[in-house]
Amino acid sequence: MGKKILVTGGAGFIGSHLCKELLSQNHEVICLDNFFTGSKDNILNLMDNKKFEVIRHDIIQPILLEVDEVYNLACPASPLHYQFNAIKTVKTNVLGTINMLGLAKRVKARILQASTSEVYGDPLEHPQQEHQWGHVNPIGIRSCYDEGKRVAETLIMDYHRQHNVSVRIIRIFNTYGPNMAQNDGRVVSNFIIQALKNVDITIYGNGSQTRSFCYVSDLVDGIIKMMNTDDFNGPVNLGNPVESPIIDFAKIIIELTGSKSKIVYKPLPQDDPKQRRPDISLAKEKLNWEPKIELRIGLQKTIDYFDRVLRGI
Ligand code: NAD
Ligand code: UDP
Repeated sequence: MGKKILVTGGAGFIGSHLCKELLSQNHEVICLDNFFTGSKDNILNLMDNKKFEVIRHDIIQPILLEVDEVYNLACPASPLHYQFNAIKTVKTNVLGTINMLGLAKRVKARILQASTSEVYGDPLEHPQQEHQWGHVNPIGIRSCYDEGKRVAETLIMDYHRQHNVSVRIIRIFNTYGPNMAQNDGRVVSNFIIQALKNVDITIYGNGSQTRSFCYVSDLVDGIIKMMNTDDFNGPVNLGNPVESPIIDFAKIIIELTGSKSKIVYKPLPQDDPKQRRPDISLAKEKLNWEPKIELRIGLQKTIDYFDRVLRGI
């Protein structure tokens, strides 16, 4: 039977894909968003669906809603945007998560928290496994996000222990795909737009730092599986274990776009993690989940999306 589901941050990159998938599974979906980094364009194609509702609201403020499940995704994800108003980022993760937990407790809904690989910080162990506690600078420019998300995990577990709220925690690793904001400064959108415009591709540092990129449809599949699994709260890593240095990533994008762009080097931002790759053994074991979309296939879909955006079609 269809459930009533709240998706906070539903107009954002991942949230918009999640709303679409939940609707296709015949659930009623309430998308709650303050439109800081999200956009109406991302959910325009869902507006005609009678099972879809949009609420402009900031999760820093409490809200009363009757739902069966909460996917708590509200929070800017790109370093540029979460550092734009760092205090607000902390409030979103702390006050916002408390409000969503309060809602879940009141109506006995299950709540899934979108946590992040950033809880591992600049990791000392590689690849990252869920039992690792992380190596995070508490006072740096990324801390509002990293520590905010860590406190959010703490709150989720405390509401579970103290109030028996049904909870799930996922740690999302770098994800990409259509509906990423073109101005959010993340590496995938930056490189693709630079390549499509034939302007310099900006590598921060020497490009030897690594990331592992997961296509958004794979991630959404894992998120929903985690919400629906029994007897497992997480945290669980969700990401693609194929790791590449940022320099190689730039070269693939130049190749796929046939771009004339040249690579230029800029200073590495403070506290930029040197390496990142999820160990997804736990997700495989508990959720029978692993990503299916190869990097080049996912990148081509994302390039086609940004090409349409840049052409205004
Ligand atoms: P996004 O910035 O595209 O989406 C976030 C959405 O939350 C936006 O629509 C924004 O307007 C909304 N929002 C922000 N603050 C809010 C507030 N106080 N109240 C209500 N709405 C608010 O980012 P995304 O990439 O879709 O990320 C979604 C979630 O996944 C975030 O919680 C992020 O931390 C997490 N995550 C994403 C990645 C990734 O690679 N994309 C990696 C790790 C974790
Ligand atoms: N990066 C880069 N050029 C850009 C944007 C990002 O070299 O134009 C690098 C960034 O320094 C980091 C990696 O790409 O090492 C991923 O950056 P992103 O902001 O996408 O995500 P995060 O650092 O949170 O993983």
